[in-house]
Amino acid sequence: EQEVAEYQKSLAIRVSGFDVPRPVKTFEDCGFAPELMRAIAKQGYEKPTTIQCQALPIVLSGRDIIGIAKTGSGKTASFVLPMIVHIMDQPELQKEEGPIGVICAPTRELAHQIYLETKKFAKAYGLRSCAVYGGMSKLDQFKELKAGCEIVVATPGRLIDMIKMKALTMMRATYLVLDEADRMFDLGFEPQIRSIVGQIRPDRQTLLFSATMPRKVEKLAREILGDPVRVAVGEVG
Ligand code: ADP
Ligand code: MG
Repeated sequence: EQEVAEYQKSLAIRVSGFDVPRPVKTFEDCGFAPELMRAIAKQGYEKPTTIQCQALPIVLSGRDIIGIAKTGSGKTASFVLPMIVHIMDQPELQKEEGPIGVICAPTRELAHQIYLETKKFAKAYGLRSCAVYGGMSKLDQFKELKAGCEIVVATPGRLIDMIKMKALTMMRATYLVLDEADRMFDLGFEPQIRSIVGQIRPDRQTLLFSATMPRKVEKLAREILGDPVRVAVGEVG
């Protein structure tokens, strides 16, 4: 415990919450299956980044998390890798069900980047990802969603459009990620986020990541997350 405390202090890591799982030092420590380990190695990821060391065991334990770390710190894999594990633990999707993992991001560029990262790891298990954001034909997206997918990466506005069009339901969604939450707020997506959260079962696992943590984002996090662990890395949050 002393060792963990000193390590966290030296890297400006602040963790708060009850019964926080110990950080990992390696991807092996995470207990990932060989397929996932191979996909990680294929990305050239040798060891987890600072935020990943803290966040991976927390998220893998099923806890909600508020993760704060600057851009480029590797937040994406902190939620994508445990999402794959979470989905593989669930019963298979039946037709017209799904998705199980829902990731919201503020812009189509960011959503697209996450979508690409997600696909790299989802491929190892044949999980289907679907990108849902503006600039793509709604009809094509509708058809893709109707065909079924375990993972949706979306901007909030377009996701709501698709739910309204009944392209998908949230009945199987149990893993919700709000990425770049501060930017989603800046772009005025708070009502859309609340609407999406309101449609997902309350026993979901919820993850909120952000580069900064303004008070109104912290307030939303406290409302929609259950007993979260808060992890801040560096001079942020
Ligand atoms: P953030 O979301 O915090 O801005 P990203 O998740 O986009 O950061 O990651 C930034 C870059 O670091 C990406 O190019 C990603 O592929 C790379 N990366 C992530 N995790 C690792 C790792 N464990 N080892 C090496 N590179 C990594
Ligand atoms: Mg990011």
